[in-house]
Amino acid sequence: MVNVALLDRDGVLNRDRPDYIKNAGELEVFPFARDAVETFKAAGWLVYVVSNQSVVARGLASRGDVDGATSKLIREVGPVDGVFYCYHKPEDGCECRKPEPGLLLQALAAAADVGPVEECWMVGDSARDVEAGRRAGCRTAVVLTGRLTAREAKGLEPPADVVADNVGEVAKIITRLRAG
Ligand SMILES: [Mg+2]
Ligand SMILES: [Zn+2]
Repeated sequence: MVNVALLDRDGVLNRDRPDYIKNAGELEVFPFARDAVETFKAAGWLVYVVSNQSVVARGLASRGDVDGATSKLIREVGPVDGVFYCYHKPEDGCECRKPEPGLLLQALAAAADVGPVEECWMVGDSARDVEAGRRAGCRTAVVLTGRLTAREAKGLEPPADVVADNVGEVAKIITRLRAG
């Protein structure tokens, strides 16, 4: 039975931008992102990226641009077990755009021999990541490298199970919880 980390991308693994990440050149991977993936891998976890990428539907980037950014991410953080994007716009009313849980459920379905979903973790930088995680039945962690201040992160409703400075810290904390 394996543990699963579902990681948001922008604001967690790389710096977010108010005008979206539109190509590989705009994707600036955080230095602790590689440590985080390595920590999860060393502990035997599966790692999936689950990210809203409406940038294509908004006409700001091509699918090829998004693929280029994904390739850069994987080069810099190391291999992950899967990358799941929602390409829809908010008004499309899809089931995969967070805070809907569909994207997380797709990733969990792809994970073979996954343990109980309530032992899986969603790691994000926004209220909608935490909401999506809870709706998927996962535990949740929120980092302070994206949309939320520490005060906002601690005041989320529903609350996250863990609030940490960055994804590297989250990886250390939650792999230790499972080991202990
Ligand atoms: Mg984010
Ligand atoms: Zn969608």
